[in-house]
Amino acid sequence: MENKINFDKGSVWIVGAGPGDPGLLTVLAVKAIRNADVIFYDALINSEVLHLAKPIAKLVYVGKKAKKHSISQLEISSKLVSESKKNKRVLRLKGGDPFVFGRGGEEALALTLNKIPFRIVPGITAGIGGLAYAGIPATHRDFNTSITFISAYGAGGEKPETIDWKSFVQTSHLIVVYMGLERIYWVCKELILQGRSKKENIAIISNATRKNQKVFVSTLESCSKELRKEKIESPALLVIGKNVLLSPTLNWFKTNEIDYFYEHELLKKKHAGYKSI
Ligand code: SAH
Repeated sequence: MENKINFDKGSVWIVGAGPGDPGLLTVLAVKAIRNADVIFYDALINSEVLHLAKPIAKLVYVGKKAKKHSISQLEISSKLVSESKKNKRVLRLKGGDPFVFGRGGEEALALTLNKIPFRIVPGITAGIGGLAYAGIPATHRDFNTSITFISAYGAGGEKPETIDWKSFVQTSHLIVVYMGLERIYWVCKELILQGRSKKENIAIISNATRKNQKVFVSTLESCSKELRKEKIESPALLVIGKNVLLSPTLNWFKTNEIDYFYEHELLKKKHAGYKSI
């Protein structure tokens, strides 16, 4: 694959890395990572993906830090601006798609206001890629003609007031909840309260598309209780609707068959000189 792209010095590319499996990166994302001088990356980025960078590239983690105050959105945006002003090719690497619950729009606005050229490289969002890897068709003609993506967190971490559960319950045949694992009890309670059946199926897809992917199928009324016995970790999606019923039959993904780009050992040697801060 030819590596040349028009990634100009002094510009910022906001790139989606997909939900985890590096095989789901777009060709453009791979080329951008290979060409970047500085990469600002989030917690959900697979290390295999970062290993595609040039050995001299600067890798900067800007995700949440365990027990520490995480870097603010304002700080991230100002870092993007200051690095690009140093005439670097700056890459902002995000999980999934940058414009789906990814704050990509906020960063793009900051760049525009500071007159920094930028482009967006879409990625496969977890709500699409994750469902495919769990054997849940996002649409299936017998079941649904629309999909609804909901975030269980508001901008300040609160339960979003703006979720119109009543209308979603009536009109959305398939509901995909991002950032919902910690709030699964609340999500299910609202859905039942507004009229969905207690017996309706829900799938929890944890670490979708990764080697440790887990799919757990239950019902709205009993999933919270059953989850306490299961080891289900973040990141996870909640999927509510009849399409979930297909998962046990179409669950094709063998977690030990992921195609990574390189062998681990080779990678370690090649990238021993990484500058990482
Ligand atoms: N921009 C991302 C979403 C970021 S919000 C995208 O388009 O996918 C973070 C939430 O996304 C997580 O809490 C989880 O609900 C979901 N998510 C991201 N990656 C995931 C994965 N591999 N498996 C399951 N859920 C995932």
